[in-house]
Amino acid sequence: MTFLFNSDAKRGAIFAKAFSRELPDILFAMDPAAVDPEAVRYLITWTVPEDLSRYSNLEVLFSIGAGVDQFRIDAVPPHVHVVRMVEDGIIRMMQEYVTLAVLALHRNLPAYLEQQRGEKWQAIAPVQAAERRVGVLGLGMLGTAVLDRLMPFGFPLSGWSRSPHEIEGVRCLSGRNGLDALLGSTDILICLLPLTDETRGLLNAQLFARLPAGAALVHLGRGPQLDHQALLQALDSGHLSGAVIDVTDPEPLPPGHPFWGHPKILLTPHIASVTQPETAAKAVIENIKRHRSGLEPFGLVDRGRGY
Ligand code: NAP
Repeated sequence: MTFLFNSDAKRGAIFAKAFSRELPDILFAMDPAAVDPEAVRYLITWTVPEDLSRYSNLEVLFSIGAGVDQFRIDAVPPHVHVVRMVEDGIIRMMQEYVTLAVLALHRNLPAYLEQQRGEKWQAIAPVQAAERRVGVLGLGMLGTAVLDRLMPFGFPLSGWSRSPHEIEGVRCLSGRNGLDALLGSTDILICLLPLTDETRGLLNAQLFARLPAGAALVHLGRGPQLDHQALLQALDSGHLSGAVIDVTDPEPLPPGHPFWGHPKILLTPHIASVTQPETAAKAVIENIKRHRSGLEPFGLVDRGRGY
């Protein structure tokens, strides 16, 4: 029985060590050309390989990342479990990034950076945390974790999901009406939604118009959820006050794109959170053990919903 690791060798070495300790009966392989394809029961990868059909006994296809929108799920036989990465390292990094972004916007960092470049020494009237409403789109593994981390700052918190949720200290909303209610009362909007047919293009002019004047955006989901022109117009008209953008479409952002030098945008190259090999290996091993004992793996993708 083989576990095929199809990602970078440095991470692979860390996985190999953990597998030899925890699952010694499974052959850990990193070279697809050197494996018996019929022995491969588990495959971890970022994109689905073109020759997936050669692994005729594949049982679980793991994504090395938290999303599966890069997978052509239709190309994966229906009996194969598709599992996204659910691991502590990704969660911790996302909590750090969201704290950084929300505090930067809350404390007017983009405006102060602009003032610094212009050698301007001038205080901007502060807003108290209790007056700065934070809304999170997506109440999954990451959305709930970042809300938990933001709670001690005292921001009024709301969250939006497809199905109803209950989280202590968070106003939880769902469905279309829920989205309207959240947008109308959000000063810092954080997108942590998976990319699906329903969320593609969601961050558009109509959505920005429903936010209160002076609101700001933190975009951490996937690039194709954001209409770049709509964001630029909302920022340039003054309706939105700032944005922290970690994901774009395309990636990397081309030279000369208006986001690069925009004074109201803080831009990072899709680094908010990345899979940490030590904790990821532990999570994948636990999931294989669960699968072997007939339990559902954590992070099992619902193909109907697309996430
Ligand atoms: P998750 O656990 O699958 O949670 C997804 C959440 O989004 C759920 O609460 C779900 O609602 C909600 N949702 C999905 N479609 C919706 C819709 N049409 N309307 C309303 N709510 C909807 O995902 P996760 O692990 O938190 O990750 C979220 C996304 O973050 C990933 O898919 C990835 O794109 C992105 N990400 C970005 C980075 C980065 O570095 N920038 C790193 C990791 C992940 P229900 O709860 O009702 O199902």
